[in-house]
Amino acid sequence: MILTVTLNAALDITYRVPALTPHASHRVTEVTERPGGKGLNVARVLAALGHDVTVTGFAGGDTGRALRDRLATEPHITDALAPVAGATRRTVAVVDAATGDTTQLNEPGPAVAPAEWAAFLDSYEELVRRDGMAAVALCGSLPPGVPVGAYALLIRSARAARVPVLLDTSGEPLRRGVAARPDVVKPNADELAELTGSHEPDRATRDARRRGAHAVVASLGADGLLAVTADGGWRARPPKRVRGNPTGAGDSAVAGLLSGLAEHLPWPDRLARAVALSAATVVAPVAGEFDAATYEDLLPRVAVTGQVTAA
Ligand code: ATP
Ligand code: MG
Ligand code: MG
Repeated sequence: MILTVTLNAALDITYRVPALTPHASHRVTEVTERPGGKGLNVARVLAALGHDVTVTGFAGGDTGRALRDRLATEPHITDALAPVAGATRRTVAVVDAATGDTTQLNEPGPAVAPAEWAAFLDSYEELVRRDGMAAVALCGSLPPGVPVGAYALLIRSARAARVPVLLDTSGEPLRRGVAARPDVVKPNADELAELTGSHEPDRATRDARRRGAHAVVASLGADGLLAVTADGGWRARPPKRVRGNPTGAGDSAVAGLLSGLAEHLPWPDRLARAVALSAATVVAPVAGEFDAATYEDLLPRVAVTGQVTAA
């Protein structure tokens, strides 16, 4: 069992229109609604790989109910979302069918009251201590009302329960989270530069590790992954740059790393899986989904090379 945490979950709504034009009225040709937010995207990819996943975070109001109703129909996913009085946010993606370009509108999400945060913490403590819990992923931004050190707290309790914990966030929650010594942190290039002040990935990745993370896996867009771990350093590159929608590629990289961790694969195999899955996600039109044929095709062709990592 793998646990993913999405404190800022969303109901993702996608409208498809023939062509998007400012000041014009548009006929919507297709509407889809699905549970969203980074940890839920990670969970969906893990479920597609055959892992059992429990999802937690917050859900509330009519949109929270709609999100949970849909989650209930998804195989391998168990809903452990905690209640919040405000309504779960919606995100709206407007896809221009002619160009494939997406215009994204994101609501901020409801504020979390102190009592709601306390109740979430109790349920999280119970979840990480369950028998068979193989890993925890903490994903995305923090909603209003949640303390900025929230991820640091969740990392400490996972580690106290001896469950490996991966962090994927940005800004101050990332900075404080890294200092709490997560097993893995997965920043993208911007998040890594903001954390370390360096735009040089090798240097920044080693710096992030010195700040406390046991392993740092930096995602560098079409250039793949750069990992620095206690067992060594690696570069993993996709065999080719693929075209498509890169939103959610990082979430699929996280899913690949976690599934490999849960299956006790060595680091190079985890990285290859993460790179193939995330490229297969760029090819798929919707975040949190990947193209299975592309994944199978790319997996044996990902180049993973060892790197000498000066401390
Ligand atoms: P997210 O929107 O999910 O938060 P991110 O910004 O965290 O994404 P990126 O570094 O953009 O993550 O992408 C994650 C991984 O996806 C990369 O490390 C790479 O393996 C893969 N990837 C991204 N873009 C491409 C591409 N054009 N071609 C092939 N692989 C890609
Ligand atoms: Mg990106
Ligand atoms: Mg990301």
